[in-house]
Amino acid sequence: MNDTRTGWNLQNSYASLPKTLYAPMQANTVATPKLIFVNKTLASALGLDPEQLDGPFALDVFAGNRFPEGSFPLAQAYAGHQFGQFTMLGDGRAILIGEQKTPTGELFDIQLKGAGRTPFSRSGDGRAALGPMLREYLISESMHALGIPSSRSLAVATTGEKIQRYSAEPGAILTRVASSHIRVGTFQFAAKYRSTEDLKALADYTIERHFSGITGPNRYIELFRQTAQRQASLIAKWQLAGFVHGVMNTDNMAISGETIDYGPCAFLDHYDESAVFSSIDAGGRYSYRNQPLVGGWNLARFAESLFPLLDDIPQQQALSSMQDALEEYVSLQKQLYLTGMREKLGLFTETPEDEHLIDTLLELMQHKQADFTNTFRALTFEAVEEPALANDMAYKEWKNRWKSRQQQEGRSEQEILALMKSKNPAVIPRNHRVEAALEAAAQGDYKVMEKLLDILRDPYAHSDEQQPFAAPPPPSTPPYQTYC
Ligand code: AMP
Ligand code: MG
Ligand code: MG
Repeated sequence: MNDTRTGWNLQNSYASLPKTLYAPMQANTVATPKLIFVNKTLASALGLDPEQLDGPFALDVFAGNRFPEGSFPLAQAYAGHQFGQFTMLGDGRAILIGEQKTPTGELFDIQLKGAGRTPFSRSGDGRAALGPMLREYLISESMHALGIPSSRSLAVATTGEKIQRYSAEPGAILTRVASSHIRVGTFQFAAKYRSTEDLKALADYTIERHFSGITGPNRYIELFRQTAQRQASLIAKWQLAGFVHGVMNTDNMAISGETIDYGPCAFLDHYDESAVFSSIDAGGRYSYRNQPLVGGWNLARFAESLFPLLDDIPQQQALSSMQDALEEYVSLQKQLYLTGMREKLGLFTETPEDEHLIDTLLELMQHKQADFTNTFRALTFEAVEEPALANDMAYKEWKNRWKSRQQQEGRSEQEILALMKSKNPAVIPRNHRVEAALEAAAQGDYKVMEKLLDILRDPYAHSDEQQPFAAPPPPSTPPYQTYC
């Protein structure tokens, strides 16, 4: 089948970088693939013909058996700090088949996750299990719908092969779409193991791809500054949605400012600032509360890896510029978070007392184990109650303070409601719902996941249909834990 008819319009700009930054790949074919999810809305936006997506060619592409015309399949090299330890990594189970140029001229990486071993696989099998790939599909699509920059999910195909995890599990391949997969760890790799020319090529490529306005002698400092700004915005959005990424290693921080790597992530049900879901994060390094701090730590690693490119600038100036940009990250992140919290509370302007107002609410929520999402829904809608807070005196007092703060602004009830509805989602991918969808899928029933995807598509709709999906987990549910 002709690729131009299916809509594939692949570039391979990454392959034009120095060959030391990637490994070319061949197809690792699987015998009996089956396409089980395909995201037709996203496919259309990418310029793919939705009619062709059920055909044999699409299946072969999403199973990694065949690459569309124009593809230059490769595995990207990268390193990274994993829980603070520097390690050589690279795409151990992902193949970048190319960059799709959309009808509007945008470029998106098309990556097959779970497509077999690569030169960076180390002891891994290069494969992925169905459950985690479906989980990534669900959560990444939900993140996008919530308005949080994220890699997206185009398709999931099962491979027909069993892979060994805790038990034998069905293998699957996720086709993921991102504005790129260039990570802090990609720069760390180039800075540590490759030449300064290679590092420079990577930096110039990144600027051209993501920060096209940046030019001039200070461009690498500016690259750092703008990357830090995007992370400030991204991490503020995570905090405002109660999202815990779970594995904020430097190799999982995308320079584009998108959320990538949906391994052990989860959304808060009840508010707990020290929440950690990942079974391996015993020290709580990547807890909810720590995310802004870890963002800064990772950015410092990015700054370090850019230093070889700052030779033209006096040392002291280079150091202080990077330092300034890091400090700017800290203050911007906090400012965006506070602005977002004000909006969640229906506040349009800023006063110095707001931070205290916000903190007091969060302390109450923490103390009473109030549901994060539903507390803000309850503040939005009279008819919604958060049982953990309903009869609490301190909460009543807080509400009076909040109401009088709102009244200072003189906005109409409709204006306030409209703002709060647009900032407080009705539904998030609740852990128990995600698990139920994955359990059904493991039995071959994909309807539960389809329904959940549909419900999560418009989280700010506040429709009747969404109500049952807004409920927190039943009280008997054990604490949620994720594995990766
Ligand atoms: P992650 O925890 O997803 O950020 O992955 C960390 C590193 O382990 C990356 O280099 C992955 O490519 C690699 N990796 C994860 N799972 C596998 C696997 N099944 N086979 C080979 N490499 C893997
Ligand atoms: Mg990763
Ligand atoms: Mg209410």
